Amino acid sequence: MCPWEGIALESQRIRSILIVGGGTAGWMTAAALSRVLGQDYCQITLVESDTIGTVGVGEATIPQLGTFNRMLGIDENEFVRRTKGSFKLGIEFVDWGQVGERYFHPFGNFGLDMEGVSFHAYWMRMAKAGIFPDIEEFSLMARAAASNRFMRPVNAGNSPLSNITYAFHFDAGLYALYLRELAEANGVRRVEGKITNVERDGNGGHIRQVRLENGEALEADLFIDCSGFRGLLIGETLGVPYRDWSAHLPCNRAVTAPSERGNALPSYTRSTARKAGWQWRIPLQHRTGNGLVYCSDYMSDDEATQTLLDNLETPALGDPRLIRFTTGHRERFWEANCVSIGLASGFMEPLESTSIWMIQTGIARLLSNFPDRSFASVDRDRYNRLMVEESEYIRDFLVLHYKATRRDDTPFWNYCRTMPVPDRLAEKIRVFENSGRCFRENDELFNDTSWFAVMVGQGLQARRYDPVADLLSFEETRARLAHIRSAVLASEQHMPDQAQFIQEHCAA
Ligand SMILES: Cc1cc2nc3c(=O)[nH]c(=O)nc-3n(C[C@H](O)[C@H](O)[C@H](O)COP(=O)(O)OP(=O)(O)OC[C@H]3O[C@@H](n4cnc5c(N)ncnc54)[C@H](O)[C@@H]3O)c2cc1C
Repeated sequence: MCPWEGIALESQRIRSILIVGGGTAGWMTAAALSRVLGQDYCQITLVESDTIGTVGVGEATIPQLGTFNRMLGIDENEFVRRTKGSFKLGIEFVDWGQVGERYFHPFGNFGLDMEGVSFHAYWMRMAKAGIFPDIEEFSLMARAAASNRFMRPVNAGNSPLSNITYAFHFDAGLYALYLRELAEANGVRRVEGKITNVERDGNGGHIRQVRLENGEALEADLFIDCSGFRGLLIGETLGVPYRDWSAHLPCNRAVTAPSERGNALPSYTRSTARKAGWQWRIPLQHRTGNGLVYCSDYMSDDEATQTLLDNLETPALGDPRLIRFTTGHRERFWEANCVSIGLASGFMEPLESTSIWMIQTGIARLLSNFPDRSFASVDRDRYNRLMVEESEYIRDFLVLHYKATRRDDTPFWNYCRTMPVPDRLAEKIRVFENSGRCFRENDELFNDTSWFAVMVGQGLQARRYDPVADLLSFEETRARLAHIRSAVLASEQHMPDQAQFIQEHCAA
């Protein structure tokens, strides 16, 4: 007898999905699900409320967004043009380790690993001898950013020009509109209206339908909660608790204000530490995005607003906006027949531009653990475990920026410098302080280059260099590093100014 006989495989298929929310999370989800599932698999509907609106921020990304856009079939020049975007080679951190200091966290790698030993180990050996102390000379992304340059990688053999790694800055509202067009073309139905009631069935508490202010009811098999911070379904309806990470990531407010575009178009995000938080500067083609992220225990809203306005480099283009948040995440990202994606599922603060990545990875994992109407708990549990792990790894990396400071000039920085940190981060710091080693654990988002850049940049000191760096002789190491350094510096000269690159390829 055929093992499948009698099993109606099709009958349990998800027939309808309702996405609640039309911000970046909602439209990324709608565009991706409709692209992958196609029009015949199930009906996808998205409901959003014009009166509630979106959070309207989220303008800096990491390189993985390119993969998401390619999956959607988006042409990159068209994307940058439509979102009035620019290219990002990394983040400059100013005044973080100590007032007056700066460093760059680049995408891509520093130098080249040699003889199976990490470049970081060789560099530290040289740096401890006072040779080539500036690690940024070994990253084309860091060098190019310092002179506002950009180009895409070219096929140039061993040259650093073959490995240019980049992400984007973009106007979040324009990106959502662009994705909406793609999703609607793929058959997604958009409903405008405010949800005033959510109804569950008695059987396991699954969500059955939402009701709009005008009385219309929208039913679905699977609900995706992209309703933003309030978590309309996952929190308010299903009661999934929020795990609060304020003790490690104390910032809980942001004030934002766009300003005019500057003369230059930097190819990087800048993050400047302030008295009780930090300020971002994100260059777009038509304006500059600015915001101050701060902790309300140490700074009032008025002071934050004034600090932001006092530090704008170009005239403001509108009134400042205040946003409140609590860092952390839902204890379960997926509960019953509802998956939360975006701010509804949590927020770790924007320091390393990881929220849109969390949306992207949430969608990818939903697709690879896609349920049927039996909603097997094994799929849900796996999804939840992976999303919590992803969040915790990112959290540790973010906390590092606050913890590894020598600043003692304000109560906020005193708190951060002395706060207890999660065990895994504490171990990472001890390992680095002992031997200068950094590791990427399992599938964590940030690789050893990122950890190294921030640990060195924040001024953590390693007692000794990694002993395996003695594999090459001192002179051989010096010669090889000199060679890499000159290749990076020569490559930098080859790259055009980013404004010129955009003018030629993707001007809005
Ligand atoms: C200060 C700040 C800076 C940030 N910077 C970055 C960054 O640089 N990089 C990055 O990756 N991320 C960043 N983020 C995060 C990023 O903004 C979000 O991840 C992203 O915008 C997704 O938001 P969302 O779609 O989940 O929620 P929202 O944009 O809030 O959208 C919620 C949607 O739900 C709808 N909705 C809510 N309630 C109802 C209802 N009752 N009925 C109908 N519809 C409803 C709303 O109308 C809206 O469409 C930042 C966030 C903050 C707060």
